[in-house]
Amino acid sequence: MSTRNTAAEKLLLQMVDDYTAREVAPLDMAIDHAQDYPEGFMKKLTETGFLGLMLPQEFGGAEFGPEVTATVLNHLARGNASTAVTLEGHFKTIDQILKFGTPALKQALLPSANQRIFAFSMTEASGGSNPMGISSTATREGDHWVINGDKIMITNGGLAQVYCVLVKTAPDQLSVFVVDQDMPGFSFGKREDFIGLRGTPVGEIMMDHIIVDDDHLLGHLGDGGLIGDSAHDDARILMGAVLTGIMEHELKIATDYAKERKAGDKPLTELQVTHRKVADIAMRKETTKLLYQRAAQLKAAGQPYSEEAAMAKAHGSRAAVAAGDDALQILAGYGYSREYPVEHLIRDARAMEIAEGTVEKMRSAIATAEFQK
Ligand SMILES: Cc1cc2nc3c(=O)[nH]c(=O)nc-3n(C[C@H](O)[C@H](O)[C@H](O)COP(=O)(O)OP(=O)(O)OC[C@H]3O[C@@H](n4cnc5c(N)ncnc54)[C@H](O)[C@@H]3O)c2cc1C
Repeated sequence: MSTRNTAAEKLLLQMVDDYTAREVAPLDMAIDHAQDYPEGFMKKLTETGFLGLMLPQEFGGAEFGPEVTATVLNHLARGNASTAVTLEGHFKTIDQILKFGTPALKQALLPSANQRIFAFSMTEASGGSNPMGISSTATREGDHWVINGDKIMITNGGLAQVYCVLVKTAPDQLSVFVVDQDMPGFSFGKREDFIGLRGTPVGEIMMDHIIVDDDHLLGHLGDGGLIGDSAHDDARILMGAVLTGIMEHELKIATDYAKERKAGDKPLTELQVTHRKVADIAMRKETTKLLYQRAAQLKAAGQPYSEEAAMAKAHGSRAAVAAGDDALQILAGYGYSREYPVEHLIRDARAMEIAEGTVEKMRSAIATAEFQK
C-alpha cells in the first residue's frame, strides 16, 4: 500500500480487490489451461479504467503515482499473474511515452491509452540481452522515416495496438519509434508457446516499410539505449509487485492446505518442517514487497531507482519460484498436480527471471552500481 494511503488510493485498492475476487481469481486456472484470456475478459478489464491509472489527468487518466500503480498490480496478481503482467507491459510503455514523447505524440496517443493496450519491443531473434545485436532499422527518406524489422517475444504482442520499437538509425546508433498496428506495413507473427504467464499474449511483430514522421521518435536519435534501460527500470518495479502477488497467492494456498491436512493425527501446521517452509515463503514475499515499494518510492521522489528496481525483480523472481517450490512440497502430490494452481504459479514466476532483463544481467547491473559507490 502506498505510504500516502489517501482515501482515493484506499477506494481504488478496494475496487481492485473486488474486481480481482469477482472477475480474475475464479478464472486463474482456466486462463492457464486455455493459454489465453476468455472471450470478453480484456473488454471488461478495459472498462474498469485500470489502463489509465497512471495517465496524467490532462490525458483523461487518474494520475496515480508509481507506488499505487505497482500496488494495484500486486493485488491483481494475487488472482492471476498474467493479467497483472499485461498491465505491466502497458504501463511501462506509457511511462516511456510520457518521459520521452513530443507534446504532439503524447496528445495523439495518450488520450486513448485507457482504451488501447501499449507494448514495448526490443528483443529480436538474434538476442534480447544485447540491444546492439538487433537488425531492425529506421532509415531517413526525405522528411520521414522508414522502419523495417521483426521483433519477437513481445509482451502483449498481438493484443496491443501501439508499440514502441527499438531500431538502429545508424550501425552503432539505437533509437526508439512508436508505431501503430493500423499503419501500412505492420503485421503480427506467431504467439509464443510459453510455459508460464499463459494468459499474457507474448508474440512477434513484423514491420515492413512502415512510414512515420519525426514526431514518432521518442527522445532524440541515439537515445534508444537510455529509453530501453528506462523501460526496464519501470517494468522491474512492476514485476516486483506482480511477484509479491504471486507469493501471497502461494502463501495462502500453503497455509490453507496445512490447516486442513493431517499427518497422522496432527495437522501439518504442527510440524516444524511446515513452519520452516511457511516462514520462508512469508519472508521471501515480504522482502520482495519492501524492495518493490522502496524502488517505487524513490521513483515517486524523483531519485535514482535503477538498482532498487533490479533488486526487486532479481530477488523477487527467484524468491517466488523457491516459495512456489515450498508450497508445492506442502501440498505434496496435490501440489504436483495440474488440478491445483501451485505448479502454474512457479511457471508464472519463472518467466520473470528472463523477461525485462535476465537475472544474470540484473546481477551485473546491481554489482556495477555497488562498485561505483
Ligand atoms: C514472458 C516474457 C515476456 C517478454 N516480454 C518482452 C517484451 O515485452 N519486450 C521485449 O523486447 N522482450 C521481451 N521478452 C524477451 C526478453 O527480454 C528476452 O528473452 C531477454 O532479454 C533475454 O534475451 P534472450 O532470450 O535472447 O537470451 P540471450 O540474450 O541470448 O541470453 C542467453 C543467456 O546468456 C545470458 N547473458 C547474455 N548476455 C549476458 C551478459 N551481458 N551478462 C550476463 N549474462 C548474459 C543471459 O542471462 C541468458 O542466461 C520477454 C520474454 C519473456 C520470457
